[in-house]
Amino acid sequence: MIEIRDVRAGYGSINILWDVSLSVPKGKLTTIIGPNGAGKTTLLRTIMGIVPASAGTITLDGQALAGTPTWDMPGLGMVMIPEGRMIFKDMTVEENLMLGAFPRSKRAEAKTRLEHAYAMFPRLRERRKQAAGTLSGGEAQMVAMARGLMSDPRVLIIDEPSLGLAPVIVNELFQTLARLKDEGRTIILVEQSTHRAVGVADQVYLMQTGRVVLDMPASEVDMERLHDLYFAH
Ligand code: ATP
Repeated sequence: MIEIRDVRAGYGSINILWDVSLSVPKGKLTTIIGPNGAGKTTLLRTIMGIVPASAGTITLDGQALAGTPTWDMPGLGMVMIPEGRMIFKDMTVEENLMLGAFPRSKRAEAKTRLEHAYAMFPRLRERRKQAAGTLSGGEAQMVAMARGLMSDPRVLIIDEPSLGLAPVIVNELFQTLARLKDEGRTIILVEQSTHRAVGVADQVYLMQTGRVVLDMPASEVDMERLHDLYFAH
């Protein structure tokens, strides 16, 4: 469904991604793991059109994405939940969620989406009138995920959702990811928590210094070998 072929991208004159290729099948969870600075976030930003690719192609259901502005991606069914959550602290939980309803929904549809988001994250319903800046880290991550769901995306691109969260909250988060996959959504997940990411994934890509160095079904991953590769330079 998403095909990334020989993509190069970077910042200014510095190239970060070197001929990166990935196939992300529909309805599956693909995880991209790798050490700090490997280029995982850069790859996600390139898929979303935030960072332009200087070479290679990215297609969504066969349609080339080059030149598509980032703000058109939700309209194509693709949403990114960025690292650091990027929620609006002075707005309430519900106001933050309603921002995610752009651009697809009419009012009635937004209401349905909101109900779905609250069903997925019941704690957010309880706190819907609360300023988002007063939430715990785990709740703030729920807001970021729920806001991403408000446009009912087919593809969710999620960057480091577990960052800074307590283990028990991380467990909840991964249960939610599994449920989102069960709903038939296609997920690209970047995670530092390698064990958990491999546990929920269908396909695993390991990146190092801007290159894909391993690509295999999660069921075939040997964690010990992965660990060795992870730290090899
Ligand atoms: P982490 O796990 O630490 O988030 P990552 O694999 O996601 O790492 P990136 O954030 O993609 O890695 O960073 C890859 C490289 O690109 C790093 O060397 C980083 O310093 C550099 N980089 C990231 N953002 C920018 C930017 N806006 N301008 C210049 N260089 C950048």
